[in-house]
Amino acid sequence: MSDKRGRSSRPGWQQEIAGERIKLLFRQAEEEFSRHPERSDSYVELARKIGMRYNVRIPKELKVRFCGSCRGFLVPGVNSTVRSNSRSLSMEVKCHICGETTRMPYSKEKKNKTDAGE
Ligand SMILES: [Zn+2]
Repeated sequence: MSDKRGRSSRPGWQQEIAGERIKLLFRQAEEEFSRHPERSDSYVELARKIGMRYNVRIPKELKVRFCGSCRGFLVPGVNSTVRSNSRSLSMEVKCHICGETTRMPYSKEKKNKTDAGE
């Protein structure tokens, strides 16, 4: 595996801010969910757009929070079921909105580029 850098023209601080915004949007989605679930969906939508625009990956812990199929905001135990499959080393997120199951492999490689703590 080669080091794929180079092509990113965006400065790191922009991606950092984008990453923070993504987390914030998911937090807002969480807060709004009980009252306005449809707003939660648009927060997720926005977060995804930011991620694509700035080439920032949605953190794994947040990836289980939206459906890969219908893109709805998911709350485990409320409108989704999260199961970990140790045999295939993946997580299965079943969306109760559209019924689709999204499988996410555990990432084997750990790229800790950021040295920032939590
Ligand atoms: Zn869905």
